[in-house]
Amino acid sequence: MHRLYENKDIVVFWDSDKCIHSFICWKTCPDAFDPKRKPWVKLDVAKNADVWQTIEKCPSGALSVVYKHEIEVLFEKDRCRSVALDGESEIGECEYAIKDDKWCIYHTRVREGYEGKKIAKRLVFKVLEEAERNKIAVSASCSYAKKVIEG
Ligand code: SF4
Repeated sequence: MHRLYENKDIVVFWDSDKCIHSFICWKTCPDAFDPKRKPWVKLDVAKNADVWQTIEKCPSGALSVVYKHEIEVLFEKDRCRSVALDGESEIGECEYAIKDDKWCIYHTRVREGYEGKKIAKRLVFKVLEEAERNKIAVSASCSYAKKVIEG
């Protein structure tokens, strides 16, 4: 399962397939991470520094975190894509095709000059999260998306 949690400053990635249930996150920062709660990650109840330091202790890599850099990533169902926006300017997208009720991600791109901010990962996670919420299977011909899916 792929999920994104965000506040105005940071984005937290959650890949449940990697979790080894050590509960280090829960024990270290129970305000932000509570597996008995839905959503189990809440970023508005803990300091960003505490969340960040907790995620650095995750032994499996199931949790990871990046700064948002004021980039918004949105899902656009009618255009079969997620899109990254820097203000009004479109700086990246992740597109998928629908075939036999399944989604196949075929293209992920981020504009030159925006490297190193994990925007492509956010774009792919956005599509995966939406598909999983709707119980739709996803594959990828895009090599980057494939790498994200395979963890
Ligand atoms: S610290 Fe990481 S591996 Fe441990 S429970 Fe939390 S997410 Fe899972």
